[in-house]
Amino acid sequence: MTIREILIHPDDRLRTIAQPVTFPLSDATRQIITDMADTMYDAPGVGLAAPQIGVSLQIAVTDTLWRSDEVRHDPDRPGGTRDLKVWLNPEFLWHSDGQETWEEGCLSVPETYGDVTRPAAVRLRWHDVEGKPHEHDFEGFDAVALQHEFDHLNGKLFIDYLSPLKRNMITKKMKKLFK
Ligand SMILES: [Zn+2]
Repeated sequence: MTIREILIHPDDRLRTIAQPVTFPLSDATRQIITDMADTMYDAPGVGLAAPQIGVSLQIAVTDTLWRSDEVRHDPDRPGGTRDLKVWLNPEFLWHSDGQETWEEGCLSVPETYGDVTRPAAVRLRWHDVEGKPHEHDFEGFDAVALQHEFDHLNGKLFIDYLSPLKRNMITKKMKKLFK
């Protein structure tokens, strides 16, 4: 099991635009995906995007079931309760007009939360690890988590949606705590 270092804001590598992966996946890319899952569960978090470990590829992993405290704090972590998803080269085909506000946090902005308003529902196209394309609609927490993760692939963080004043305060806090 390899736990990778999670980059903390402000770090220029969190602001780079990630490149698409090519199929068939190389062994190196498959290893990155495995490491990302290990790193996400270890953190623990409900999602992790490749730029957060300094890899500029369009890869994200999520486990929105992991959000449940009951599951997260289970010392046995039974495999059946996990719901690991791997998203490659994701793109949104549609966003709903209706919006929802959720409190978001991020492994790259530790111990910090903020209300972010986003489209309540999305239609996503992505590829699986075999290179097969998929399309599906998502709403609720899944829609929020996916929009948050895929923002990372475009060099964007949830704090970009907050007021400049709040964002500057958070940046100062991160520099103080983690530099
Ligand atoms: Zn994040």
